[in-house]
Amino acid sequence: MNKKNEQNFLFHTDQSWTCLGCGECCGMWDIPVTKKEKERIESLDVPGFDFENETFFTPDPKSPGIFLIKKKNGKCAFLDDDDGLCAIHKKHGENVKALACRLYPFHLLHWKDGKISVSFRFDCKAVSRNSGRSITQQTRQMRNFSKELERGLKSNAKYNKKTKSSLRDLRMIADTYKEIMLDENSSLAAKLHYAASLLEFHSSRANSSFVVNVDNTFKSDTMTYLKENSPLFEITILAAPQPDKLQNAVFNYILTGYVRVDETEVGKSVLKRFPRAKLILSIIAGGGSLASINPKCPDTSGQYPLETLSASTIPPEWEHLMTRHAAAHLASLHMCGSPGLNLSFEEGMRHLLLMQPITLAIAAMILSGPQKQDSMTPELAVADAIRITDHTFYRSPFFSMKHVKTMIKWMTGPNVFPSILRGLMNPNKQTTPNKKKTPRN
Ligand code: SF4
Repeated sequence: MNKKNEQNFLFHTDQSWTCLGCGECCGMWDIPVTKKEKERIESLDVPGFDFENETFFTPDPKSPGIFLIKKKNGKCAFLDDDDGLCAIHKKHGENVKALACRLYPFHLLHWKDGKISVSFRFDCKAVSRNSGRSITQQTRQMRNFSKELERGLKSNAKYNKKTKSSLRDLRMIADTYKEIMLDENSSLAAKLHYAASLLEFHSSRANSSFVVNVDNTFKSDTMTYLKENSPLFEITILAAPQPDKLQNAVFNYILTGYVRVDETEVGKSVLKRFPRAKLILSIIAGGGSLASINPKCPDTSGQYPLETLSASTIPPEWEHLMTRHAAAHLASLHMCGSPGLNLSFEEGMRHLLLMQPITLAIAAMILSGPQKQDSMTPELAVADAIRITDHTFYRSPFFSMKHVKTMIKWMTGPNVFPSILRGLMNPNKQTTPNKKKTPRN
């Protein structure tokens, strides 16, 4: 990569991926193809596929797009169930496949200021486990993808409705939050509480000037304050009351949003969605199972998420999987802006902060559920929970609904968030900070 391009790419360096061949991504998404890609694939000789007499593509009824069709088991028609490999890839190599197939798990956006942001999608098994080649060794792919995508829409973001910081300012602010998340001398709970308090402080009109024209002192002042007050944040959390019934119910409701599988629901009539709404209601009330709305979730019948989180003893050393995920989204700004859900930076940050206790609550339920496998370790449970919550993170239209944004703001606000974070402060967990060193950029 030449020097100029190198400076334009923005990504967190501590992310890794090498495909494990699990084939999950070939069932997770509706895979769009262009007319040109369809024609290219149909011109190939792919064993077992008679393109002259059968079609393996379907038009999208809601847009001019075309998609690869899926089999009854929900997997792509071209995925060989015996060896878990793509029939097109096996015979003709990677380059003839549709861009959407080649791109995953890269997520790459071109921004209005000329920057190109890259992160891995953490709903991939290998990425959530940080397994494989470092993203820093995959710059050739980034460069190629950026060329293929450069004519698309350019992304943009603002701080909040009232404060329109430049992208340069937003990146400096995001970099400061990334530094908070990666701080190795504070507990995860203290860092989340501090980040949420900072957001609250800057959300008032009187303090909005702090997030406009920021300079390097923004980061150094913020980190000095964290260093000096980290124990105080922990005391505040421990002194907070236990979450009440309403807070539990709203937490459970938002949790059902983080575990949605939208692709099976979009396009269904209200009547057809009714059974799912009933299941969600039972989860909100604390009696249902997450497995009833997402087969990748554990059977959580009889488990209350916040209670299970409080009782869990997931050691803090596995929290680095969570902070890596947060850092990847902050380095790329892939939690706000267009063309995604167009959340403001402030909304995207709250979305990212609440995701942490929600993901750890799911990990705790995986570890204490009746179907827990012997091979399940805290590390794998946290990685699996990240896969589940990242799938909808900043993608599901659930998070752009007004009432959901209001609830997330309330949950991460000063009156509720410390109570939610109590679950991360179980005295049976070691309270020493993470032992693993995490790269800073
Ligand atoms: S989900 Fe990840 S590891 Fe599994 S096949 Fe897809 S890219 Fe490979």
